Amino acid sequence: MPGLSTMSDEREVWQMFRSRDEYAEPFRIKVVEMLRETTREERETLIKEAGYNAFSLPSDAVYIDLLSDSGTSAMSDRQWAGLMLGDEAYAGSRNYFNLKGSVKDIMGFDFVAPAHQGRGAEHVLMSALVKEGDRVLGNMHFDTTEGHILLRGAEPVNCLAEQGYKVGEETLFKGDFDLRRLEDEIQKDPRKVPFVLITVTCNNNGGQPVSMKNIREVSKIARKYGIPVFFDAARFAENCWFIKHLEPGYSGKTIPEIAREMFSYGDGCTMSAKKDALVNIGGLLAFRDEAMYRKALEWQIPFEGFATYGGLAGRDMEAMARGLREVIDEAYLEERIGQVRYLGDLLLRAGIPIVRPTGGHGVYIDAAAMLPHLPRKEFPAQALVVELYIEGGIRGVELGGCAFGRVDPETGEDIWPALELVRLAVPRRVYTDRHMAQVAKALSRVKGRASSVRGLRITYQAPVLRHFTAKFERV
Ligand SMILES: *Cc1c(COP(=O)(O)O)cnc(C)c1O
Repeated sequence: MPGLSTMSDEREVWQMFRSRDEYAEPFRIKVVEMLRETTREERETLIKEAGYNAFSLPSDAVYIDLLSDSGTSAMSDRQWAGLMLGDEAYAGSRNYFNLKGSVKDIMGFDFVAPAHQGRGAEHVLMSALVKEGDRVLGNMHFDTTEGHILLRGAEPVNCLAEQGYKVGEETLFKGDFDLRRLEDEIQKDPRKVPFVLITVTCNNNGGQPVSMKNIREVSKIARKYGIPVFFDAARFAENCWFIKHLEPGYSGKTIPEIAREMFSYGDGCTMSAKKDALVNIGGLLAFRDEAMYRKALEWQIPFEGFATYGGLAGRDMEAMARGLREVIDEAYLEERIGQVRYLGDLLLRAGIPIVRPTGGHGVYIDAAAMLPHLPRKEFPAQALVVELYIEGGIRGVELGGCAFGRVDPETGEDIWPALELVRLAVPRRVYTDRHMAQVAKALSRVKGRASSVRGLRITYQAPVLRHFTAKFERV
């Protein structure tokens, strides 16, 4: 493989992915869930009743639901069978030991604490290791991670490399740290950095991967100062697949080999099992060091539950234990990431502006570019979510001025985030390529009438996390 530093080289690299028509889904379908199709008139009424906020729609009025890839996976027959093997003992459930075994085999960590979901694991980790005035350094912290750092009276610091913020630039590994920045931030006061957190893949800028080279360097820098390294491992398998296919030196390695190397650079992880453990609920914490694990248990037991269940039923842990082993399958990952990329390619072909390159779990549309006639204060991304629902019964999510903007309490002025995006998150093993084609068609039709799409104004908003419950009316 040639060097990866220039555009033309990158194009060649992308072409090394097998094209979508060279393979089919590596599974067949045993159970189906019928979808309800609504009429355009029904959808007009439903979205209006929902205050033009897709979070308030009943999900059975949604034809293709791309709101989130979290907890929306289709489990396998082996996972469903595992549910029947739930050992619901209060302590020492066999399913806990199976989960521990999966984590040890895949990540190499000896000590595991289950949690009810990712944020439960984050709560335990932050409570155990973060003090007031600390600074937690990461590539780009996910929202709930940032929330838990702030709740400890500490400061979340993002050290994402410049390229990670450039929407239209097709560079590889846009989840990488700026290593110089990381070391500068550590040097301000190493004693105030409880750990460095590497989020794989980097969710907040589009599911962009972190390279093994960068992970190795981050670990080397942190270790020089005696600082532990943790992973936010929600999408660890998707990250490993990108390393295998895009990073020189890894094409001959298996996904399990890549995962073991990746985790060898860290001291533990938090994980939302609702992503790459292919389950509908669950999470975990893992540690290499027993003393650190003991410290976490002091918070685990009062908040999540006893050490061997952590807020989960035994059957849920069994499904997680099995999902972790399924997600590192190469054929599964090719299909998964290939499908997301396929949707991205269909949109590009239709002239729809998206964040490039397409990440691991979703396609992000640049709504500001698609609806240039709408000013920020009319929420173009929210307007696009509404139109996509009306057009095709498809639900995406706004990640723009409503989710990340706020009103300055002193001046009363709006403060807008840099980007105005709509995310189409693709659930794992749930939809077919023909569903993806319908999504692309509906978006093309919205594009065709873009200039007549009306903006929105907020009629109700909560003081924090307003996008979940905001209500709008058409301007
Ligand atoms: C989803 C997610 C979390 C939080 O997990 P929940 O299971 O939703 O609580 C944390 N980090 C990342 C990167 C995530 O994607």
